Amino acid sequence: MIPYGRQSIDEDDIRAVEEVLRSDWLTTGPKIAEFEEAFAGFVGAKYAVAVSSGTAALHAAMFALNIGPGDEVIVPPMTFVATANCIVYQGGTPVFADVEPDTLLIDPEQVENKITSKTKAIIAVDYTGQPCDYNALWKIADKYNVALVADACHSLGGRYKDRPVGALALLNAFSFHPVKHITTGEGGMITTDDPNLAERMRTFRNHGITSDHRQRENEGSWFYEMVDLGYNYRITDFQCALGLSQLAKLPKWLVKRREITESYDAAFREMSGIEPLRVKSDVVHAHHLYVVRLDMAKLRTERRTIFQALRSEGIGVNVHYIPVHLHPFYRNRFGMAPGLCPISETAYERIISLPIFPAMTNTDIETVIDTIHRVICRFLSTNDKSRS
Ligand SMILES: *Cc1c(COP(=O)(O)O)cnc(C)c1O
Repeated sequence: MIPYGRQSIDEDDIRAVEEVLRSDWLTTGPKIAEFEEAFAGFVGAKYAVAVSSGTAALHAAMFALNIGPGDEVIVPPMTFVATANCIVYQGGTPVFADVEPDTLLIDPEQVENKITSKTKAIIAVDYTGQPCDYNALWKIADKYNVALVADACHSLGGRYKDRPVGALALLNAFSFHPVKHITTGEGGMITTDDPNLAERMRTFRNHGITSDHRQRENEGSWFYEMVDLGYNYRITDFQCALGLSQLAKLPKWLVKRREITESYDAAFREMSGIEPLRVKSDVVHAHHLYVVRLDMAKLRTERRTIFQALRSEGIGVNVHYIPVHLHPFYRNRFGMAPGLCPISETAYERIISLPIFPAMTNTDIETVIDTIHRVICRFLSTNDKSRS
C-alpha cells in the first residue's frame, strides 16, 4: 500500500537523536532553544516556542490570548478536530465559518458574517498547505479588534504574497506529527513576534511555572513560582535534535512535494471526473496534501466505492476532513447539525486525498496516476469516457 503520507528518517536523524540520548539532558536541555531559534529563523518570526504536539501548540495559543468561557472563536469546519478542540479546552465556543468552494480555505466573507460582540479570535487553517487570504482576514481582525491565529500545521514552507507562513498571523501553530513536513514523532511549535505572548506560552507548557529546572540549576536556586494553570506540554531534547536535523532537509522535501503535485496536475488535467483544488496566484503552496474532488455527476457511483477500489489496488487514499461540526461531540455539546456549513458538507462528499510524501519514487507516482485513471474510467458514463 502506498500511504497518503509518511516520514523520511535517515542516518543523520538517527545519529542526532543518539547523540542526545548519550548526553546529560533528555528533556528541556540545550536542543530545545537551538530548534526554536532555527525554526523562528526559517519562518522569519521573532520567537518560536516548542511544545509536545500541534494540539498543544493550538491550546497554548488559545491560552496566551486569554480565551475563556463566553468567548467565541471562528474556525473553518474543513480541518482536523484539534483546531476547534483547543477553543473548547479553554471553555470558549467554536463558531464555524464556511469555506470557499474551490480552495476549501476559510472564506473571509463568511468569517465577517459570524463576528459578534463575543468574538475574540479567528483561527485560519492553511488547508492542504495553501495559505489563506491573510490580507482579507487581517482587515476583519483589525476592524473588529480580534486576534488572528494561523493553524499552519499543513503549510510549513509556504508563502502568502511576499511573506512566509509562520509570520502571517499573530500566533502560528505547527505540528511535527510523522505525516507533516518535518517530524519529531509527536511535537509542535508556535511562532510569534510578540514577546509577551511567547513568554505566556513558555510558562503554559511547563505547568504555569515561570522558570525551568535548568535555569534554576544555573542560578543555584530551588525557588519557583506557579503563576498560571499550565500543563506539561514540554517536548524532549532528543525530539528537538530530530527536529533540527529534519528542518535542514525541509527545502529539498518541499521541492519534491512540488514535483509530485506537478505530475498529478498534468495527469488530471487530461482526465474527466476528477478535479484538483484551485491554487491562488499570490501564494506558494506547501503541498502537505493532494486533495481531488470527484465529479459525482459524471461518475455513476459514490465516493465510498471509488475510495475502496483505490484502497484495494494498493493506493492508500484518505479523506481530509469530516467537517468538524458534524462530529457527535459538537452536535451534542453545541447543538450543531448538517446545514450549518453547506459548502464544507458538500465538498466532504466528494474529496479524496492522494499519496504525497518526499520518499515517493517515480514508479509510486506513476502507479497512483495509472490506478486513478483505471478506477475513474471504470465508473465514468460512456459520454465522458470518450473524452478521458
Ligand atoms: C496535524 C494537525 C493538527 C494537530 O497536530 P498534532 O501534532 O497531531 O497534535 C492540528 N491541525 C491540523 C490542521 C493538523 O493537520
